[in-house]
Amino acid sequence: MSYTRQTILEMAGYTPGEQPRDRLLVKLNTNENPYPPSPAVTEALASLTTAGLRLYPDPLARALRQEAARQWNLSEDAVICGNGSDDLLTIGVRTFVDQGGTIACPDPTYSLYPVLARIQGARTIHIPLDETFNPPPDCARQAAGSSLLFLARPNAPTGNAFDLSTMHQLCRDYQGIVWIDEAYADFAADNCLDFVHKYPNVVVSRTVSKSYSLAGIRLGLACAQPPLIEQMLKVKDSYNVNALTQTLGLAALKDQSHMQTNVKRIQATRRWAADELTALGFQVLPSEANFLFARPPIPADEYAKALRAHHILIRYFPGERTGDYARVTIGTDADMQKLLQATRTILADQ
Ligand SMILES: *Cc1c(COP(=O)(O)O)cnc(C)c1O
Repeated sequence: MSYTRQTILEMAGYTPGEQPRDRLLVKLNTNENPYPPSPAVTEALASLTTAGLRLYPDPLARALRQEAARQWNLSEDAVICGNGSDDLLTIGVRTFVDQGGTIACPDPTYSLYPVLARIQGARTIHIPLDETFNPPPDCARQAAGSSLLFLARPNAPTGNAFDLSTMHQLCRDYQGIVWIDEAYADFAADNCLDFVHKYPNVVVSRTVSKSYSLAGIRLGLACAQPPLIEQMLKVKDSYNVNALTQTLGLAALKDQSHMQTNVKRIQATRRWAADELTALGFQVLPSEANFLFARPPIPADEYAKALRAHHILIRYFPGERTGDYARVTIGTDADMQKLLQATRTILADQ
C-alpha cells in the first residue's frame, strides 16, 4: 500500500536544468540573462526594510498589475501575477482543466505542460510539429476535445515563433482556452499581446526571468479578458507573490529601457553566434528567443558531454524529435567566445 496518489507514483516529475554550485562554469543551460538587472532594482532592494516584512504582501499585487496593465493597454482586472510564470501555468491548469480532463500541446515544446496535466489527473494530446517545427494545418482538429491548448511562442526548446496567422487561426478554431506562453517574447520580432482584446479564450503569460534578468525573484504576469482572470484569482494561493518580489519586480517593469538594451545586446550576440556555429558545421534553427537550437556535426549528447569537460553547460533533450540538437543559451560575447573555442577543440579531436 502507498500513501501517494497513483498518478503521482507513476509520473517522473519535471527535471529543471542544472544549477551548479561551481560558479566558474560558463552557464548556458537554463536561458538566464547574462546581464545584471536594472539599477532601479538595486535601489529598490536597498530601500527595503525588514520591518515591512511583518505584514503579508498585497494578495492582488495591485501595483504590479497596474503597471503591467498600463504598459499593455489593458485594465488592471485583465492581469494576474504569479510566483514565476510556472505558477501561472499551474493556476491555468487547475482553473480550466478537470481531473480526468485533457490538455493539448505541440511536440516538442516546454516539457512542464504534460507534467502539470498529470498532477491534475489530466492527460495530454501531443501534436507533432512539422519538420520545420511549426504546427500542422490540422492542429486545432488534433487538439479537439481538450480544454486547454498550450502554445509557447517563441517555442521552447526550438526557438522559432509560429506564424501570427497560424496563431489567429488556432484561437478562432480551437474550442477551449489557448494559453500563449510568451516567456521569450521580448526577444522576438512580434508577440500576441493584442490577441487578448480580440479573443475571449486567450491567455498570454510573460515572465521577468529571462528578459529582465530576474529568474531568482520568481515573478510571472499573465493577461486575459477579465472573466478569465476572475476565475484564476480564485485558484491562486492568496499570497503567491511575496513582498520582496512585488517591490523588485515593479522597479524592473518600470525600467523598460534597461530591459530593451539588454535584449538588443542578446539579439546581436544571437546573430553572430548563429553565424559562427553555422561556419563550424552546425545546422542552426532560426531563433526568436535568447537561445539557439542547433544540430552539431557530431552526436549532440556527446557534444554536450564534451563541453562539460570544458566547464561549459548547455542543455540536451533526449528524444526522437530533439535528440539530434543542442540548446545553447545566449550569454555574453565572452561566454560565446569560450563556447566557440571549446567547440573548435572538440571538433578537431574527433
Ligand atoms: C522559462 C520558461 C518559463 C518559466 O518561467 P518562470 O517565470 O521562470 O517560471 C515558462 N515557459 C517557458 C516556455 C519557459 O521557457
